[in-house]
Amino acid sequence: LHGPYDPDNIFARILRGDMPNVTVWEDDDVLAFMDVFPQSEGHVLVISKTAHARTLLDIAPEALARVTAAVQRIARAVDKALAPDGISVMQFNGAAGGQTVFHLHFHVIPRWKDRPMKG
Ligand code: 5GP
Repeated sequence: LHGPYDPDNIFARILRGDMPNVTVWEDDDVLAFMDVFPQSEGHVLVISKTAHARTLLDIAPEALARVTAAVQRIARAVDKALAPDGISVMQFNGAAGGQTVFHLHFHVIPRWKDRPMKG
């Protein structure tokens, strides 16, 4: 759960422009982009551009508030664009917590009654 921030993690590389991504929202504080292995249609990831935080434990509350405001913005946009039956917002910390990319991120995952989430 603890440890140094790896500046070469995939999302850091996306932020540097070393890795392509499909951006859905960007401002000075946050980047929202499509998950390359989506759990459902419209699966978006939201990250801070300024906080080099591995996990939820590492980010300042003010920076976190900007990320969660963006999560809400994306959820509202997803609702408008895709009209899902539900939206799951998920966030994992540490390998044992299900985290695979060690730059804090939130998943915004549209859900449909008749479509289970992909594994
Ligand atoms: P975690 O399990 O760490 O919460 O989720 C990491 C997410 O990042 C996964 O859903 C995975 O599909 C996504 N991901 C991994 N590599 C890339 C990539 O290179 N580009 C994008 N857009 N998403 C990625």
